Parts: sequence; structure tokens; C-alpha cells
Amino acid sequence: MITEVIKADELTKADPVFGQASFNEHEQIVFCHDKDTGLKAIIGIHNTVLGPALGGTRMWKYANEWEALNDVLRLSRGMTYKSAISGLNLGGGKAVIIGDARTEKTPEMMRKFGEFIHSLSGKYITAEDVGTTTPDMDIIRDVTPHVTGISEAKGGSGNPSPVTAYGVYMGMKAAAKYKFGSDRLEGKKILVQGTGHVGETLIDYLTKEGAMVQISDINEVRMQEVAARYGAQIFRGDDLYSADVDIYAPCALGATINGDTIERLKAKVIAGAANNQLANEAVHGKMLQEKGILYAPDFLINAGGIINVYGEIVKYGKDEALKRTENIYNTTLEIFSFADANGVTTHQAAMSIAEKRIADRKKEMAK
Ligand code: NAD
Repeated sequence: MITEVIKADELTKADPVFGQASFNEHEQIVFCHDKDTGLKAIIGIHNTVLGPALGGTRMWKYANEWEALNDVLRLSRGMTYKSAISGLNLGGGKAVIIGDARTEKTPEMMRKFGEFIHSLSGKYITAEDVGTTTPDMDIIRDVTPHVTGISEAKGGSGNPSPVTAYGVYMGMKAAAKYKFGSDRLEGKKILVQGTGHVGETLIDYLTKEGAMVQISDINEVRMQEVAARYGAQIFRGDDLYSADVDIYAPCALGATINGDTIERLKAKVIAGAANNQLANEAVHGKMLQEKGILYAPDFLINAGGIINVYGEIVKYGKDEALKRTENIYNTTLEIFSFADANGVTTHQAAMSIAEKRIADRKKEMAK
């Protein structure tokens, strides 16, 4: 999944590794290949100042290797800031496997991938992401301890998506409080784009609270099922972005917030699960601010999943994970206040707090 709108020919013009705009001070990038299983993977380790680089493995049918590299670099950098802002002692990393998860993934491939992870001696720890599942993590666990998101039957924390959805719900409530004066979502018109693992649980929370939920998904069957299950309305207009709603929750793809869509947006709040929602962080964060649209930074409010899998490393259970995830509500409010007080965008505010935590730790380590 491409998380930034960059044309393939623009990518190929740049030097493939250090020349990528998304390279952004990565510590290490590992290319993994195994002819027998067809494995082609890239592990991006962005920063390990706060701890081992933890981030999921995405399996996706990328159009070319540059796209895969660009994706892993952007995602692993995002993990650095996600863990830092969430107060976790983790660095940022991510992996991608090039291929169609439905037709090309095999247990042998996953095992081989686990061996590559093991060779990094714990500097990178994986988990599930789009195209990989809890059973895949269980296979990887057979060859390395450096994996999280394994099944509860095997002593893990299971699927992180419900906890991610809880964090997004908390972040959305905080945004509603800041923008509308109350965190009650009853009667609020909310558009959820993407009814997958996270989207569905979020829709469950929202409909239970009495919000007027509209949903959209390219998977018509799934969308119909979710609509029926939760009494949500299917969005059938021509232009999703100009829908007359209070809150837009992107829970499908990255980069849906760009110059084109911001112009059309009627929502006053954006709060969703998708990673890298802003096509260009600096440009589009500012455009949202100028238009008076309150943006809850994605890497802040979708951190429930990583908070959940972190429990497998520091040995806390579901209750503690939910408590820490609930705190996303308070952190989100703090970020909004910090942004207003300092005249910066909410994205910049969250980034600068995360960066400060990393810089402080670096200073401590140098003593
Ligand atoms: P998922 O694959 O289960 O669901 C994504 C859904 O979006 C699918 O139903 C898909 O059909 C739909 N979709 C794809 N393109 C669409 C489009 N153009 N319009 C509408 N719907 C579209 O993924 P997920 O685990 O629910 O994650 C959703 C997003 O949240 C992803 O961007 C993911 O990176 C991010 N995220 C997930 C977690 C987690 O714990 N699962 C944690 C952090 C961030």
C-alpha cells in the first residue's frame, strides 16, 4: 500500500536508498531474499534510541521495488514517533514483504522471514500489519522470539486491532471535546472509511454511543455485512470527501488527506486509524489548520495496537494495555493545547514532543 502520492517515475529517478526522500536518517535497512520460498522482504530500522525497533510486517503486491522501499521507510519512521509519543521504550521499525498475501504467502515463506528477523538479534521485533495475521506471527515465533502479536493460545496478546480501535475512539472523543465542547458523540455524523479490522470495532463503539455513522468500503460484501450488523448507513454519494458530516475517520488507506480532498472536506474533525493520512505532513497539516479542521494525529491515536503488543515484551496484560490506550484521550487533548499555544499544527506538535523524548534519552545515554 503506497502511503504517499509519489509517481513511480519520480521514485525511480531518485537514488534507491539514501536518495529516497523517505530515507530520513534510517539506521539500517535489510533486504531479505530467499529463492526457494520466493521471499522478497525489506526490513527498515529507523531509530533504536528508545529501544528495539518494533513494527509490523506488511505484505502487499507493490507495483515495483521502489514503491515497497518507499513504503517501508515511511512506515518505520512513523513507528519511531508513534512509540515515542506513547511513552513506550521502543524504537521504530517496519517490514514489507513484496507479494500478494492471498495467493503468494506460505508457511515456509513466513518461517524463512522469521529466520531473517532472528539474524538481527532483537534489534527489530515484528508484529502483524496489512496482509499478515496472528497465525503468521505464530509461525515466525517457531524460529525467533523477536515477534509480538502472537496468539493468546501461544502466550501472546492476540489481534491488536480491537485495541487500536479503542485508542482511535478515545482520540476521536478528545477531538470532539476540543472542537465541539463535549466528548459525547451521540447524534454526531461520522463517516468511517474502511470497515476492516479496526474500522468495524470503531463502528461498534460509535453506534453504541448513538452516533449517526456512515460507512464506505471498496469491499461491497463486507460493507453490507457491517452496515447490517451495526445499523450503520452506507455512504452512496459521488464524493466521499464532501459528505456532510462532523467527523471523518480514515480507516483504510494513507494519504487520503491532500490538497484535492481538503478543499472538499466539510468535516470539522479528522480522527482515524490509517497510517500516514497526510499526503504531505507539512503542507497538508497547515492547510487543515487554516481551514479550521481539527486533525488528531494518526500516529498518536492509532497507537493502541503497539501499546497492546508492547505488553508481550514488558509483561502486562489486556487490562493494563486498555488503561494505557485510554490515556490517548488525555495525550490528544494535551497535543491540541500545545499546538494552539505554540501556533503550530497538531501534527507538528505531536512530532516535536516525540522528538524531544528521543533527544532527551540520547543526552542521558551520552552522560
Ligand atoms: P484491514 O485491511 O482489515 O481493513 C482495511 C479496509 O479498508 C478493508 O475492508 C478494505 O476493503 C478497505 N479499503 C481499502 N481501500 C479502500 C478505499 N479506497 N475506500 C474505502 N475502503 C477501502 O486493515 P485494518 O487492520 O483495519 O487497518 C486499517 C488502517 O489502520 C490501515 O491503514 C492500517 O495501517 C492502520 N492501522 C492498523 C492497526 C491495527 O492494529 N490493525 C494499527 C495502526 C494502524
